[in-house]
Amino acid sequence: MTHDITVIGSNMMELSTDIDRMPKLGETVAAPNFHMAFGGKGANQAYAASQLGSNVAMISKVGSDMLGREYLKHFKESGIDVSGVSVGKKSNGVAPCFIQGNMNSIIIVQGANSELTPDVLDDYRDIIKNSRLIVLQQEISLETDYKAIEIAHEYGVPVMLNPAPANDDIDIKHVAMCEFYSPNETELGRLTKMPIETIEQIKAAAHKLVDLGVKNVIVTIGSRGALWVNKDHEELIPSYKVKAVDSIGAGDSFVGAFSHYYTQGEDISTALKHANAYAAVTVTRPGSQTSYPTAAELPALQK
Ligand code: ADP
Repeated sequence: MTHDITVIGSNMMELSTDIDRMPKLGETVAAPNFHMAFGGKGANQAYAASQLGSNVAMISKVGSDMLGREYLKHFKESGIDVSGVSVGKKSNGVAPCFIQGNMNSIIIVQGANSELTPDVLDDYRDIIKNSRLIVLQQEISLETDYKAIEIAHEYGVPVMLNPAPANDDIDIKHVAMCEFYSPNETELGRLTKMPIETIEQIKAAAHKLVDLGVKNVIVTIGSRGALWVNKDHEELIPSYKVKAVDSIGAGDSFVGAFSHYYTQGEDISTALKHANAYAAVTVTRPGSQTSYPTAAELPALQK
């Protein structure tokens, strides 16, 4: 079976508590509200592409607990192929998040995501081989990302690496094997150790990566849109003006949407324009996956 997109990466259950104040160590406090949501960068990106109608497979590890079972069910209900999803020994990855006003404190527990080790990918070579695009992030180990890049390279399948969360230890040789490298401006600054305040500075940092052999650098720059640089081309694709209420998961929606439009045959510039439009809609709604619209829900302007 072939897939438009295979996402190799994390899934996390978001456990969000609204708090009046953080308890001190050893203290118990009551909190007004709690809710759970499906998140994790890999799963978010797969979900966005699937919402838009792509045929998506996920290679991921869910936990052996109740949350793992729920996540597996969610993947299936979202139309995501789970033949590459296996059950780990640990609990599911979780992100307990404490929200006070407009400030968050977040704890990341990798759980079963840490069991997505490089050797696991050998079981799913066929899925990788029969995909039109492989999408990676850095919420699993870099070694697993490297192995994914190497397998995809072996089969001539293009890779998009979204280097989030930032990891300064990334090996540029592997980055240069990817078709697309898509940091946000902060991640770009961390990797290049260059200033990224102005668009000119962001362009200079992106060009530095191209000089190091990276094929297409796509920098997401929040409400300023996205910058695409390769050795022959430089283009700033402005974002859509919207009333933003919550930018959580915007970067993941952008990556998922770009992957969708690109594998549907759009040229890079058009796919980026559509990805900006998709991500702009998600910032007008609360949450990460809960804010990702289907193609039918997109406003006419943004199709
Ligand atoms: P991340 O979530 O990784 O920090 P960004 O903040 O750069 O990523 O946002 C990703 C994309 O989401 C942007 O390139 C843009 O398309 C869209 N976006 C983010 N914030 C806004 C906003 N306030 N208005 C419109 N689009 C936005």
